[in-house]
Amino acid sequence: MQTLLEAQHTAPSRRIVQVDLKAEYAAIGTGIDAAIRDVIAAIAFIRGPFASRFEASWAAYCGASHAVGCANGTAALELALAALGIGPGDEVITTPLTFIATVEAIIRAGARPVFAEIDPATLNLSVEAATAAVTTETAALLPVDLYGQPARMAAFRHAADSHRLALLEDAAQAHGATDSGHRTGADGTADITTFSFYPGKNLGAYGDAGALVTARADLADKARRLSDHGRTGKYVHDLVGGNQRLDGLQGAILSAKLPYLDVWNTARRRLAVRYDELLAPLFEQGTLGRVSQAPDVVSVYHLYVVRIPVSGPVNRDTVMATLQAGGIESQAHYPIALHLQPALRYLGYREGDFPQAEQAAAEVLSLPLHPFLSDADQDLVVAALNVALLP
Ligand SMILES: *Cc1c(COP(=O)(O)O)cnc(C)c1O
Repeated sequence: MQTLLEAQHTAPSRRIVQVDLKAEYAAIGTGIDAAIRDVIAAIAFIRGPFASRFEASWAAYCGASHAVGCANGTAALELALAALGIGPGDEVITTPLTFIATVEAIIRAGARPVFAEIDPATLNLSVEAATAAVTTETAALLPVDLYGQPARMAAFRHAADSHRLALLEDAAQAHGATDSGHRTGADGTADITTFSFYPGKNLGAYGDAGALVTARADLADKARRLSDHGRTGKYVHDLVGGNQRLDGLQGAILSAKLPYLDVWNTARRRLAVRYDELLAPLFEQGTLGRVSQAPDVVSVYHLYVVRIPVSGPVNRDTVMATLQAGGIESQAHYPIALHLQPALRYLGYREGDFPQAEQAAAEVLSLPLHPFLSDADQDLVVAALNVALLP
């Protein structure tokens, strides 16, 4: 006879999720509740001391001189481009394998996104391809730390310096990751590094929030003013800005969660190593493809991604459906390379322009990975994946 515990394990209602914010709240809810009460007691809802306190902690955590909190990760990218003075007539080189926000921000700035091919091993933007795409119109390089693995920032810094370009890093998925010992956002890496605190990110708010960090006081100051109606006084505006401010509540919640970030990232890395080991036979058979880690890089595994080879016997949709039937969530990040998105058709790209990015988009599959995933549940994911991959 099944024990109650086993029954709960096999009940179809019990799902293995990709992000478990209920488990997180169960672990740290007391601190969150206190943070929320403090903000309400102080009536400090828009920016204010709780937002500033988080900005200071976030800058210190990243090893950056300045942090500017803002409304979300997309706003952080928009503010960064505006602070750098990038706009109409400028080209910004980025990856076709990222969340669309990276490119939306470039377009909102009035600039033109230019895609370059990815490195098929790490799936991050190739430094060589990005460099080859530089023209006289290029104003900036914008690599993304995909899935939590830093792009090759030292090489991008070198490329940006030798072509006199700005270097912007989208670290929305890479809070606390390191490259050659440097944390994402540390002074001396990109000119500006942006973060999203969307609830499901490695450090997530209870709503929308974002930040940018930089070594340069002038860029931080301009971004901060742009995020708050270009203000110099309450009703004195010396820049045309907008409303992209960080909430006090989100600042306080992020401050309450920040002390756990390293612990959670370590838990993610341990599970990622465990996936690597458990899936090794499938990788060796070639039934499953892997995403490589560059040397000297420590990923924070926002996502654990494998590849279902397009040349293999089972396609990704079938694998996802089999996992789903077993109560296991999985997703493709991202199923359509951006140069082929309907909204971006006007840029003039065609299928075949970036074969590596297109193949990756057809193959990638994100398995459940969050700090509260148990080894037992991870074993169930691996078992289900083995079944799903049988031809
Ligand atoms: C989440 C994300 C963003 C956007 O962040 P929001 O806070 O949702 O606006 C931008 N770029 C990447 C790579 C992301 O993953």
